[in-house]
Amino acid sequence: MTEENTAPEQIPIVTYLNLADPPHLKAQECKSCGARFFDRRNACASCGGGSFAEVAVSSDGVLQAFTIVHRAAPSIPVPYVSAIVKTDDGTSVRSNIINTPADVEHVTLGMRVALATYEVAEDDRGTKCIAFGYEPSS
Ligand SMILES: [Zn+2]
Repeated sequence: MTEENTAPEQIPIVTYLNLADPPHLKAQECKSCGARFFDRRNACASCGGGSFAEVAVSSDGVLQAFTIVHRAAPSIPVPYVSAIVKTDDGTSVRSNIINTPADVEHVTLGMRVALATYEVAEDDRGTKCIAFGYEPSS
């Protein structure tokens, strides 16, 4: 009887989530003006430039804006916190606040947050789909 490698493979839910250790986001940075975007772009929405470089995005930041969502599609658990995080390198990221209760006692504007990943699904072969959010940090 042979021993199989049972380590499950992980696949990021979006192409700009890098599951390296530690996990981080990667952005396309405009070589003309420095604006950052997630996923591939043909042209910069800020200056029209057409040349980009892939950069690692800081995993730490502050909660810049949020709303607590109480109604969603039937399969999506509520409430959850939809947010805009401004990372320490100035990148604006739309994401959810996770690993904390979705209420204003635990989620406040300007609080420190850090990137966190979680498993959203697993297929029959054990391959896990990994998503990201931001959790409170100190
Ligand atoms: Zn630009």
